[in-house]
Amino acid sequence: MSREPRPDYGKLKLLVGGEWVESQSSELGQAFDPGKGAPLALVPFALPEEADRAVAAGQSAFEKWKDVSILERVKYLYKLKDALERNTDELATINTQNHGKTLEESLGELKRCVENVDVAIAAAYTLAKGDTLDQIAQGIDVSMSKEPLGVFTIVCPFNFPMMVPFWFIPYAIVLGNTIVVKPSELTPVPMQRVAELIKDEVGLPPGVVNIVHGGRHVVERLIANRDVKGVTFVGSTPVAKQIYRMAGEHGKRAIANGGAKNSVLVMPDADLDGSMSNLVSSFFGNTGQRCLAGANLISVGDVHDSLLSKFTKTALALKVGYGLESGVQMGPLVTEKARKRVSDYVETGLGEGAKPVSDGRGLKILEHPDGFYLGATILDQVTPDMRIAREEVFGPIASVISARTLDQAIEIINGSTNFGNMGCIYTSSGKSAREFRRRVDAGNIGVNIGVAAPSAYYPFGGRRDSFYGVLHAQIDTIEFFTDKKITISKW
Ligand code: NAD
Repeated sequence: MSREPRPDYGKLKLLVGGEWVESQSSELGQAFDPGKGAPLALVPFALPEEADRAVAAGQSAFEKWKDVSILERVKYLYKLKDALERNTDELATINTQNHGKTLEESLGELKRCVENVDVAIAAAYTLAKGDTLDQIAQGIDVSMSKEPLGVFTIVCPFNFPMMVPFWFIPYAIVLGNTIVVKPSELTPVPMQRVAELIKDEVGLPPGVVNIVHGGRHVVERLIANRDVKGVTFVGSTPVAKQIYRMAGEHGKRAIANGGAKNSVLVMPDADLDGSMSNLVSSFFGNTGQRCLAGANLISVGDVHDSLLSKFTKTALALKVGYGLESGVQMGPLVTEKARKRVSDYVETGLGEGAKPVSDGRGLKILEHPDGFYLGATILDQVTPDMRIAREEVFGPIASVISARTLDQAIEIINGSTNFGNMGCIYTSSGKSAREFRRRVDAGNIGVNIGVAAPSAYYPFGGRRDSFYGVLHAQIDTIEFFTDKKITISKW
């Protein structure tokens, strides 16, 4: 299967203790195929007792899973990798269908899932080890071992329905923990299919991976559960803040990745022609719904006019449409509500005095008149104090801000928002690049790269309001999902 996906996935079930369970909840959400604007699946908002049952299943599985040898656990990850690779086309198709991104973008997402499984396998053989120091005193030795903790809750955003869960899943389970995953209620279908594969093809013991659906209430219930040892959250800043606070109140460890407002700076000495497709895809890839998307395009010195004309020409040449159709380079927004929110921001920007270079709000895709499409939108003469420059929009909008010098541009980046996920610079000067890298207060820096996404063997996190916590996603989770035990012995 690749191009003919199911038109409807019905009412999703919960995966609890290895069984697919029908939720008894009467509260149902609607997941869409945003490219067609058509309903795709009904999402039950799990009842409190259903969330409790998922945690209980995780807790009971943990008692045995933690004692399975790490080499046996690694074997399951090899099977998981194999299942992802054998079903890549189907998973990518479902991902595009439910999220709207292009098939190519979904295939890229799948690659990152596999990469995280690979790195979790490697880490299990290496970083999961402890260490010892003999003879700390006469006849006394000390050793440190890393132990799993128990059940973790993985709360996911809509924009990478598979990749974000995989920043955590393989690491958590290979280290001997069990998990309850809560996919986004907007894009739960891809993880549902992954969970089917985990159950049917990977054969993990029941209860090691559980899935519940819903929103705020189910997440709060999970975090409050005594048997949940920690939570990973990826989503918007207000919720990240709330989750981090709640985890603290309940004495749980937490990783909470929040929202973003990323600046991409272009110096007069940048190779504009060589960088343009990379630069444009920073703003419009994934329809701007990436935490590492460019949002503010800062032109420095006299590069403004040539930058704007090349950027606009390349952006307007992007083919917008249904993500499963060939040649399409930009899909729709995830929901009608998201399209309205982004459109409203365009209006706000214009009201604040920004000048429209291109306005994607009128875009119609004739074959899919009900899809949630919005074309590439470019606003010029944006100033750092405008809302359009400060707030996260999460859509295909580029706000062009002019700065006189690199110093002024860095000041704008650090001062106009309190987000700190990513900053990028396009330049042919090593000195400018170095200044930028050292002074921009963001967790991820791109030099002549518009999406500075860390590979799985590096941590993925931001700074300031883009991240709350200490340890980040991906490789850092080896520490997050284990506790260090010290043994001091004398024989
Ligand atoms: P969101 O915050 O609306 O939802 C994220 C998850 O939290 C969902 O599973 C949702 O059901 C749950 N949730 C929502 N409100 C809640 C509440 N009050 N209490 C508990 N749980 C709640 O985010 P979204 O719209 O799904 O995703 C887009 C956001 O995610 C953007 O802000 C984007 O920048 C951010 N994001 C950040 C990163 C990163 O690494 N920093 C990566 C991807 C996405």
